Amino acid sequence: MSHVSFEADVIVAGAGLAGLCAALAAHEAGARVMIIERAPVDERGGNTRFSNGAMRAVYDGIEDIEALVGEIGPAERARTDFGAYTREQYFDDLGRVTEYRTHPDMAGLLVDRSRETMRWLRTQGVRFLPLYEWQFKLPDGRIKFSGGSAVECLGGGDGISSSLFAACERKGIPIHYDTRVTSLRHGSEGITGVNARRGRADVSYRAGAVVLACGGFEANAEMRARYLGPSWDLARVRGSRFNMGDGLHMALDAGAMPYGHWSGCHASSWDFNAPEVNELAFGTVFKRDDYLAGIVLNALGERFFDEGADIRALTYAKLGRAILAQPSQIAWQIFDANGSAQLHGEYRVRQSARFRADTLEDLLAQLDGIDRNKALETITRFNSSVCTDVPHDPGRKDGRCTRGLAVPKSNWALALDVPPFEAYAVTCGITFTFGGVRIDTTGRIVDTDGTAIPGLFAAGEMVGGLFYFNYPGGAGLMSAAVFGRLSGQGAAASLAAPRS
Ligand SMILES: Cc1cc2nc3c(=O)[nH]c(=O)nc-3n(C[C@H](O)[C@H](O)[C@H](O)COP(=O)(O)OP(=O)(O)OC[C@H]3O[C@@H](n4cnc5c(N)ncnc54)[C@H](O)[C@@H]3O)c2cc1C
Repeated sequence: MSHVSFEADVIVAGAGLAGLCAALAAHEAGARVMIIERAPVDERGGNTRFSNGAMRAVYDGIEDIEALVGEIGPAERARTDFGAYTREQYFDDLGRVTEYRTHPDMAGLLVDRSRETMRWLRTQGVRFLPLYEWQFKLPDGRIKFSGGSAVECLGGGDGISSSLFAACERKGIPIHYDTRVTSLRHGSEGITGVNARRGRADVSYRAGAVVLACGGFEANAEMRARYLGPSWDLARVRGSRFNMGDGLHMALDAGAMPYGHWSGCHASSWDFNAPEVNELAFGTVFKRDDYLAGIVLNALGERFFDEGADIRALTYAKLGRAILAQPSQIAWQIFDANGSAQLHGEYRVRQSARFRADTLEDLLAQLDGIDRNKALETITRFNSSVCTDVPHDPGRKDGRCTRGLAVPKSNWALALDVPPFEAYAVTCGITFTFGGVRIDTTGRIVDTDGTAIPGLFAAGEMVGGLFYFNYPGGAGLMSAAVFGRLSGQGAAASLAAPRS
């Protein structure tokens, strides 16, 4: 067994968006930086690379969007109402979906640094596009932005990842792949580096500061069952197989304060045919987020979730938990021809668990394990409880609801009565975990006494206190970028400060 050692000012563990931003920011501040990444080079990029690339940032109007995407032509302007997303709206959405648990300091950093961090990402070479997919499509063909995530990264998660890897290469920041950080090195005055394993070799890294950006524990079935609860070991993993909770273990071993919603996570509706753990070759083809266009039934033949509670970006991240709680962790999204016409392309992929028939009876006959009589009764009852006196309007939360059902559909309710009918079998896909460690406003990890641990920083999914129960779409990448940059700046600044 060999032993190799390296030395840098700042060591960053993890090369997802948080780690790459931390490394670039620390380098910008004059530090010598090294990144250590557990994955081999061809699987690099963490959850970030699997992501859709949607980002939620404050913007005042089209000028702020143009600062990111470049000039928007007259035809595009004419058919689009880009609206705005104020800091108050961002706080409001974060507060509402987290049941007002989000920590004001954490939320404040995320919201108030979102716009400038997007511009900074642009200077690092990330390219953006207006995000049309998530917006209201008006009946006259115009698009009205629904607030929040107004842009996506060109090339999605792969795009943002490869732009930032290229930026690191341009700046000469070394990245050690296939190297797993295993523990922190401690000195009398705080953290002095990390220990790692590369193949059979032990590698040690000495540094003035360490940024942990290793993601959450979403890929670790044992930790999921332990912290999220029974059956979470059965959830499919939507992203990287490398996010096993290593960074959290190391931080807690160093005395970090556990913080945030340790029994909570982002989990959405995911195709039943998806593998246990996702692969880069599949990307997001198993995403099944168009439940607004139909209804969702469990094996008892019952609805269990208000499909129209709010816009998709504010509800999809909690649907996975609701599905996991159903018998056999399965559900079926049911659409008639009108609903099917609104489904995104990934529903049509070869791997999709898709069923189709000209009658509801024939459709239900194909669904293994569902109570068919009850399912038919549920659909019939749903159809007759739609408030037809409220006009359907896909351009806003239209209030077209059901009346008299134990589980209502609060908006966009339409009877399922136009053949052919389609069903998609779905299960719970976990995206990332919410539990993390407490950091201060410079990204330093705080210990259980409330004191910052000298030389130790955290970023990205490892930061606790932001998301509880649910999350507003696009805030994962945004928080990875904001807290990544913050921790990189903090780590570089800490090099000059005396440790006490
Ligand atoms: C399918 C999918 C779609 C998504 N879509 C969106 C979206 O459109 N918008 C949005 O805002 N968010 C989205 N997200 C969430 C978003 O991807 C994450 O919140 C964000 O990328 C987290 O960044 P991160 O850097 O903290 O973690 P990651 O990008 O996961 O990076 C963590 C890195 O740490 C490495 N690592 C782990 N352990 C070690 C160790 N011991 N030593 C060294 N390295 C280690 C991992 O290999 C990984 O590369 C999506 C996620 C998924 C899975």
